[in-house]
Amino acid sequence: ADDLVRSVHRILAHADEVRRLGVRTNADTPEDSARARRFGAEGIGLCRTEHMFLGDRRQLVEKLILAEGDDERQAALDALEPLQKQDFLEIFEAMDGLPVTVRLLDPPLHEFLPDLTELSVRVAVAEAKGHADEGTLRLLTAVRRLHESNPMLGLRGVRLGLVVPGLFAMQVRAIAEAASECREAGGDPRPEIMIPLVGAVQELEAIREESEQVLADVCESHGVDVRALIGTMIEVPRAALTADEIAPSAEFFSFGTNDLTQMTWGFSRDDVEAAFFHAYLDKGIFGVSPFESLDREGVGRLVEIAVEGGRRARPELKLGVCGEHGGDPDSVHFFHAVGLDYVSCSPFRVPVARLEAARAALGGERAGS
Ligand code: PEP
Ligand code: MG
Repeated sequence: ADDLVRSVHRILAHADEVRRLGVRTNADTPEDSARARRFGAEGIGLCRTEHMFLGDRRQLVEKLILAEGDDERQAALDALEPLQKQDFLEIFEAMDGLPVTVRLLDPPLHEFLPDLTELSVRVAVAEAKGHADEGTLRLLTAVRRLHESNPMLGLRGVRLGLVVPGLFAMQVRAIAEAASECREAGGDPRPEIMIPLVGAVQELEAIREESEQVLADVCESHGVDVRALIGTMIEVPRAALTADEIAPSAEFFSFGTNDLTQMTWGFSRDDVEAAFFHAYLDKGIFGVSPFESLDREGVGRLVEIAVEGGRRARPELKLGVCGEHGGDPDSVHFFHAVGLDYVSCSPFRVPVARLEAARAALGGERAGS
């Protein structure tokens, strides 16, 4: 068994010498970061921050989103910031010296709101008993106002950042504070800030301006030069089509092929188990799910358009992919051919991505394809 492990390490070391594509990981805990590093990841390409707001902290996010005034909102932000700072500090430590792309909050909103039906029942029961429950009634009105039929196409990502004042600024401050502290302790944090669900350059610009101000403030108060790249995900078809307009405002693009596939095909990511989807596979309309292996004619075409437009507008633009396809062997060949700088995938897929990236560089086909 030891011999086998040694052989695998030798093959992967050889692959690393040959490949041109970088290989990063998707990780949002220090444990996953450390694991991915052992598998050879050269940084984090996607640190999702959604899970950091669940559990005990969900109440604070609910308060933040439903706040009735500035004071209430600020209190929730003030409580969340040190928690976020600690989250990032631990990840920067685990990934010392390597880039960490932190994606600002991108949840479907309903995950953070009280259940509408339950609230309605509570109000109805109170009314039936003849005593009005004012607090619950107010909450019900607020939740109703935010209720969405299609949360995945609703108030998510950059939209949430624009609608909830201070939310993204709080996350950026936590990133900058964590990086400063890490640096002061002799570490080498390399934060990158990524804005999700951008469809138009104006959305990115608004967040970028706010983020740069926060970074400058933190640098001044600590007297440390904490630099952070600011970039965007390309996961809305419109962003791919207007990549040349977006690139001047972004230091990097990362393709979110999960959402890009959903929005290009019009297939819900959450319903890929639906019967019609299997019928499509059975009838050979596609051989493999486009959520698993990149659909080159549609989603791939949008990636090509964005790479071309982005690089034309900004030749030094860094390009990566962090959707599930980043760890799919067949798709890795496509990303190599189209000229991305790196792929990012789950920790366990990192070795395969290293190997396939080398095979792509050598001009080889996938084994069995
Ligand atoms: C994506 O959409 O491809 C992506 C990486 O983001 P998420 O899966 O978190 O929406
Ligand atoms: Mg996405």
